[in-house]
Amino acid sequence: MRIRIDHHTCIGSGQCALTAPEVFTQDDDGYSALLPDAAETATRRQATQAALSCPVQAITVTDG
Ligand code: SF4
Repeated sequence: MRIRIDHHTCIGSGQCALTAPEVFTQDDDGYSALLPDAAETATRRQATQAALSCPVQAITVTDG
């Protein structure tokens, strides 16, 4: 699974970190960041739920 955050689109709403705190955090400026090893340890459900929670569709989850 591959999790990608479009940092140009992210507006720092924090919904991803609230929805899947095991996977996402916020950097010092409030924008989304992946936790270390999150792509390996996150479940598809966690990543997908976070992607769905994002108000600007900045998160994409793909295979591989
Ligand atoms: S939910 Fe979307 S807009 Fe909000 S911090 Fe996460 S990636 Fe950025």
